[in-house]
Amino acid sequence: MLTAKEISKAIAGKKTTAAEVLESRLKLIKERDGEIGAFLEVFGETARAGAAAVDRKIAAGGRPGRLAGVPVAIKDNLLYSGHRMTCASRILEGYVAPYTATAVQRLLDEDAVIVGRTNMDEFAMGSSTENSAFKRTRNPANPDCVPGGSSGGSAAAVAAGFCPIALGSDTGGSIRQPAAFCGVYGLRPTYGTVSRHGLTAFASSLDQVGPLASTAEDLQLAFEALAGHDPKDSTSVAPPAAGSRAGAAGLRIGLPKEFFSGDNADEETLSLTKAAAAALERLGARLVEVTLPHVRYAVPAYHVVAASEASSNLGRFDGLRYGFSAPGADLAEVYKKTRGLGFGPEVKRRILLGTCALSAGCHDAYYLKAQKVRTLIKRDFEAAFEKADFIIGPTAPTPAFRFGEKGPDPLAMYLSDFFTVPCSLAGLCGVSAPAGRNAAGLPVGVQLLGRPFSEPVLFELLKALQNG
Ligand code: GLN
Repeated sequence: MLTAKEISKAIAGKKTTAAEVLESRLKLIKERDGEIGAFLEVFGETARAGAAAVDRKIAAGGRPGRLAGVPVAIKDNLLYSGHRMTCASRILEGYVAPYTATAVQRLLDEDAVIVGRTNMDEFAMGSSTENSAFKRTRNPANPDCVPGGSSGGSAAAVAAGFCPIALGSDTGGSIRQPAAFCGVYGLRPTYGTVSRHGLTAFASSLDQVGPLASTAEDLQLAFEALAGHDPKDSTSVAPPAAGSRAGAAGLRIGLPKEFFSGDNADEETLSLTKAAAAALERLGARLVEVTLPHVRYAVPAYHVVAASEASSNLGRFDGLRYGFSAPGADLAEVYKKTRGLGFGPEVKRRILLGTCALSAGCHDAYYLKAQKVRTLIKRDFEAAFEKADFIIGPTAPTPAFRFGEKGPDPLAMYLSDFFTVPCSLAGLCGVSAPAGRNAAGLPVGVQLLGRPFSEPVLFELLKALQNG
């Protein structure tokens, strides 16, 4: 399967056309997505029109964009003008995007072709894509297993070869964990580097848009197209100019003892993570031990902060402004019925939890306290980054689990985010890279965390690890 880099080069060099590339991927999607279920909708018609426009531009001698003719899938919480967007929720059924998210537009500006919208946990709340209101997405590595979540459809689409790049969003791990489960690369960019304009808000102080890709080079290519200041997102910033360096030599890689001890991850996951660290050492990196004493409080702090912000953000789905609306005798009944029927159980749980955490009697004990814990975790990382340039650990405690395995108790699912939420709370960048497979043949991901805006060096490390 051609990578994005190979596709754009072949198209720019007139060795193939965007239309040809698209048709081959649409054929594959048609053959295999019935089983995998990565897409909620394939944009056949507009994708064909987009590919034809790229081909016309190139035939006319126009300069091809960096993603010329590259088929890209987008998570179903990103707006693409004129296309439906549901966040995999009944409450947004029938909603059509009135404008295009900046992240999607930046890919279009580089001549990418948007092939469809991918399945996800409803409103990005979950770690398995089982919370989608519409369908199940299977892990291409093993159809009995979940693809991870919440960007499970995007990870499955890349892993199945439907497209070399997909967009996801990561609030507490939703790009990195499905990337690990499906055996692809996934980047959570530093908060602020990629515009959130046109991303449906879940928890605004944590949400980030980012790419998933089948190679480290494609991940970098996508990130470079996505990153940049956007006046439409007040939290977006222009990343500082990148220094130039190559390879892993001389970089200090921190191994937090909290990530490698105890029973936070299974044995095979730990040994593959250690093998990745050893590979970096062979490439000239230096391994150092660091400590993150407060990370054990990250999951509870994350759930208080994320649910609080979600309870506020999701207030806008009132049955009047967007998508689904249930009839009622008066306004209160319209609200109640629309939200009662429109939201699934996990989303309701989070709205209730967040509303409770923000209420007068609970605010200081929960929300304020969680914010303090967030500061402590940020300081832990600042101290660790005095000793190390990057931090390594597993992306998830285990490889992909089976459907239904986490059972009805939401805590089991929440705890599976142990390794990914600290990075989100601290505003760092983080990536999951394939680290091999366990004995059962399931992919395992290794997570690398970097200081804010350290993506350019992180990519060098990733490429060294991939090609090493
Ligand atoms: N799994 C986490 C949650 O359920 C993270 C989700 C995300 O990053 N969107 O909230």
